[in-house]
Amino acid sequence: SEEVLVRSEKLSAIGQLAAGVAHEIRNPLTALKGFTQLLSAKYPERPHYFEIMANEIDRITLIVNEFMTLAKPHYTQFTTAQLEPILRSVIAILETQAILLNVEITVSLERPLPQVHCSENQLKQVFLNVIKNAIEAMPGGGLVEISACVHKDGSVRIRIKDGGPGISQELIKKIGEPFVTTKEKGTGLGLMISSRIIEAHRGTLGISSKAGEGTVVEITLPVQEQRSRRP
Ligand code: ADP
Ligand code: MG
Repeated sequence: SEEVLVRSEKLSAIGQLAAGVAHEIRNPLTALKGFTQLLSAKYPERPHYFEIMANEIDRITLIVNEFMTLAKPHYTQFTTAQLEPILRSVIAILETQAILLNVEITVSLERPLPQVHCSENQLKQVFLNVIKNAIEAMPGGGLVEISACVHKDGSVRIRIKDGGPGISQELIKKIGEPFVTTKEKGTGLGLMISSRIIEAHRGTLGISSKAGEGTVVEITLPVQEQRSRRP
């Protein structure tokens, strides 16, 4: 089967641009949020409207911050965290979608998994996209197998395997380039952002697939370093 290591260089131009735009959007958002709070005090009879506005502004801010991490991986906070709860929380989010599509998710984790030095939110974003891709690959139902084990060198390997149609040889070479999608409502940004995040964690994200034989995404994360250093 075809195997590729998804590299993030492919996105550097678009990543820089996105981060630049994101930066410009942040300041006006701060002003908007401030005036929303001011207005809500002035119109106490309509608190709901302002609550919605504030929530939506928060949402845009979150997305914008995510984009900023594309060009500046050090922008986010790295902490030492357990992998299992991160994986479980993502699976919980996707469970309803999986049930609706008749997709079963199995999880097999070696215990204990070592702690990883990571940005929890970013790792969640990676697992969310990769597992979502696996579910979306099987609209008629199937099995997604998630496993994690520890290598001899201490690094952790997480595999997400599906029984979908796989990825053609032609497409797999383009995977990770921005806007490469075969989905009607796809963005083609998920794997690009995911590979970028994993590289910022000094790990690797590889895809191995063959048309007709499903897909395996393998993510490795390095062993936790004892001395502290900037990510
Ligand atoms: P999106 O999901 O928005 O299309 P992604 O970057 O997550 O963007 O994925 C890009 C493309 O890679 C998908 O549109 C799909 O064609 C292909 N792909 C990714 N994961 C899988 C998978 N598990 N099985 C089959 N195709 C996949
Ligand atoms: Mg996706």
